[in-house]
Amino acid sequence: MSDFYDTIIIGAGPAGLTAAIYTARNEKSALVLESAGIGGQISLSPLVENYPGFEKISGSELSDKLYEQALALGVTIAIEEASRIEVNPDGTKSVYSEADQVKRTCRKLIIATGQKHRKLGLDKEEKLIGRGISYCAVCDGPFFKNKTVAVVGGGSSALQSAKLLSGLCQKVYLIHRRDEFRGEQKLANELKQIPNIEFILKSTVEQIEGDSALTGVILTNTDTKEKRTIALDGLFIYIGHIPNNDICKGLVDMDDYGYIIAAEDGRTNIDGIYAAGDCRTKAVRQLTTATADGTVCALAE
Ligand code: NAP
Repeated sequence: MSDFYDTIIIGAGPAGLTAAIYTARNEKSALVLESAGIGGQISLSPLVENYPGFEKISGSELSDKLYEQALALGVTIAIEEASRIEVNPDGTKSVYSEADQVKRTCRKLIIATGQKHRKLGLDKEEKLIGRGISYCAVCDGPFFKNKTVAVVGGGSSALQSAKLLSGLCQKVYLIHRRDEFRGEQKLANELKQIPNIEFILKSTVEQIEGDSALTGVILTNTDTKEKRTIALDGLFIYIGHIPNNDICKGLVDMDDYGYIIAAEDGRTNIDGIYAAGDCRTKAVRQLTTATADGTVCALAE
């Protein structure tokens, strides 16, 4: 395997894979490094209904299609965690992976590392992951067939997951700290019609209960401060994300939330380093804007 590429892309989500597709179609060599799952966050989305050209497609099917398209164009995709980036005196960049054991160099580097789940930060949250607490309804929903679960959050991910779980579970509580949803209103209205979904609004999770497995949560009403305990078999946490930009700390400029500051064409403050998708500063983090970023970064000179 060559250790020099025209472009190295860190992250195989929609932004990274689109960047790879455009790079390869421009007859340039592309390497994509991915530490977790191909497709990034979207691969966990049960049903994508807003990607143009596909009325309905599962996130995992869309990810598979992007992956196959990139491979067919000759893109190299390595399942390795990028550990370090170095800017060389000649302007090329070296990307290390596998705990600095592997080194590759490129002319252009596109960071498309996406974001990770935000946690509630409560006692027992870490301990009960896989024992009632989950961040992925698609992956873990089937373990809660005919059980009682709650989804926390008011964005599109929470709403979509509540809908998915309502088809599997006996009862789904949707807990949100406000009485308005950040996610699509159309979907929120749809959920109101589903008989086994109960909205618990203006409420926050104060405490997670259970020792070897989750047994419930204690909620606080944000207006009245009243507490309420609900018994649960599962708790699905969908309260947003944190950018996966640790590898770029101190290398490129970031905003206060850790998102990479990038221009319209994806350019960062370092020549030849671009940022695409959810990891960069932007107004709208959507699948369509991620793929658009990948395109623009791949074609920027
Ligand atoms: P999001 O839109 O950022 O929503 C996060 C939700 O969690 C918000 O409702 C927020 O409440 C709540 N929250 C944040 N911190 C909290 C805390 N500490 N305690 C309780 N609640 C908290 O995140 P997302 O739903 O994961 O979506 C991320 C992006 O992906 C969005 O742009 C979304 O549109 C997109 N997406 C697209 C699709 C698709 O099918 N195309 C599917 C899923 C997601 P507040 O509203 O009060 O701030």
